[in-house]
Amino acid sequence: MKRLTPPGFLYDDIIKSCIEGAASDIAFQKRLDDSKPSLLSKSVAYFNNAKNQTLYLQAPLGKVDSNHTVAHTLTVADLHSAYDTYLRERKSGREIYDAIKLRAHEICLYCALPGASTLDHYLPKAHFPEFSIFPNNLVPSCTKCNEDEKGQKFATSINEQIIHPYHEKDAVFQQQWLYADFLPKSLTRSEAIIEYYVSPPENWDDADKKRVAHHFHFFKLGKRYGTNAAVHLNQVIETMEAYHADYGSYTEGCKRYLQVAAKVRDNQANNDWRRVMYEALLGYYSHNVRDLHVPHDSIQWLHADFIAPGHGRSWPGRIEYYVAPHPNMSDSAKEEVITYFENNGLAREYSEAAEKELEVVLRKIEKSCSRSGSYVRACGSVLEPLLVGTSPPNDWKRVMYQALLSHYVWFKTYSMPSPPN
Ligand SMILES: [Zn+2]
Repeated sequence: MKRLTPPGFLYDDIIKSCIEGAASDIAFQKRLDDSKPSLLSKSVAYFNNAKNQTLYLQAPLGKVDSNHTVAHTLTVADLHSAYDTYLRERKSGREIYDAIKLRAHEICLYCALPGASTLDHYLPKAHFPEFSIFPNNLVPSCTKCNEDEKGQKFATSINEQIIHPYHEKDAVFQQQWLYADFLPKSLTRSEAIIEYYVSPPENWDDADKKRVAHHFHFFKLGKRYGTNAAVHLNQVIETMEAYHADYGSYTEGCKRYLQVAAKVRDNQANNDWRRVMYEALLGYYSHNVRDLHVPHDSIQWLHADFIAPGHGRSWPGRIEYYVAPHPNMSDSAKEEVITYFENNGLAREYSEAAEKELEVVLRKIEKSCSRSGSYVRACGSVLEPLLVGTSPPNDWKRVMYQALLSHYVWFKTYSMPSPPN
């Protein structure tokens, strides 16, 4: 949902450009010119309904044939070709068509995701041909929103009326109604998801609450935002880990990073899906520090072995984690880290989390090896930089890199497991 002021083109200019483009069809030109007052007066009714959120009151065409006259002498077919041919294809109209589309800077005004490659008729032209070329009815949108979700559908009651990007109540854009929860399924957050939901302000009208919820479900925004967030999440979590290292505290580091990220998004709409994602993360990390507090994290006690594929194990093998407390640790500290490791089921969780990362790293090594021709050198050049970072000593990824390094380099194993084809 992105707000935009209505296109600045006068309806009159659009009608003129269609007349200009139809030079080969004098009869059509005359019908369009004669019908101008009728089109303009219908556009006034549209405008008034739109600004009162009552466009659902506009009567659709019903079952008529394409020769049915809609506005003075203009037929359904005339109005469809005014859009399809004279606005979209002929040079004079196309300039206006493109200008209306480009105003959105490629952001779809219905979902606010990138990829606005088409113009959608807010009131579909199949049912409302009289608004085929009315600029306020033309909305830059992505094909997913326009063709897959909206198609020829239109509202017949207030509750079904989707957000109009040009004519909507200020509150819909200025107040927050889109929220999300960060749901880490595991401590390693490898399967974390962001779940979006709608929660409009209490003091809104019932109809407005229902309308934003309808908009959210109609365009399948929960699923689509969730997918986009998942793509961003890995990168966000990696950045947070770097902040974690810098600040020495997960909560502090994450909070600072997320506050900045959410603030940057402040310039965007309140219901921007990325801003909402940062807020969800901030909420989680501000309140769920327990999960992230690793005991005795200044000294290494987490270790792992790389179990190479072979003996019935499939590629890429696996990483087995275990606790080996440092000799300098006190007995109570040793006991604490063992309990922490066992009670949280970390052997299994880290091992599962490592699966994907292991494959990524092995493929990198393989690629590097094909350049350098040396396994040991390739392993070193890929793994050593990963260990130089400032991640804490019991970080499962760091421990995994150590395990690989000792397997391939320190023990000088000169062969890599061959990946499956
Ligand atoms: Zn869209």
